[in-house]
Amino acid sequence: MLKRFLPNQHVQDIFEINPTMLKQKGIKGIITDLDNTLVAWNVPDATPEIVEWFNKMEENGIRVTIISNNNEKRVKLFSEPLKTPFVYSARKPFAKAFKKAAKQMKLSKDEIVVVGDQLMTDVLGGNSAGFYTILVVPIVKTDGVWTRINRRIERKILSWMRKKGLITWKE
Ligand SMILES: [Mg+2]
Repeated sequence: MLKRFLPNQHVQDIFEINPTMLKQKGIKGIITDLDNTLVAWNVPDATPEIVEWFNKMEENGIRVTIISNNNEKRVKLFSEPLKTPFVYSARKPFAKAFKKAAKQMKLSKDEIVVVGDQLMTDVLGGNSAGFYTILVVPIVKTDGVWTRINRRIERKILSWMRKKGLITWKE
């Protein structure tokens, strides 16, 4: 059961995810989390590096959808300037938002990667919905209040996985 929390891949940050690596896997779309994945949870706008990352994906024909459990105001304000589709109040780890995003991108599950910084929402949700999942290291160590509760559980799962030898990366 706990294997549902195990990402297919683990990277340091979103910038390790690039069109070359995605194309090798036959990936045409990305479903990404927002807070602490693209920018710190308390930063309202995309940084120039993130804008460039989105542009690079677009140039290479890779579709990106942001799905976030955060509210409409936060997600809209961040996503609209990037002209990228988004789902707010997504209720991850439930599968609904992931499936909706895939449908809107007109891609099948095996053409999409799910990216995020949390096991309890992004990885569990992505895995359960049948996607390839990539875990990124959270941009900042602090979190909003709900995430703090998830992190506590997450730490327990991570230490269990480490003991089992399921993960080898450092914190
Ligand atoms: Mg997050």
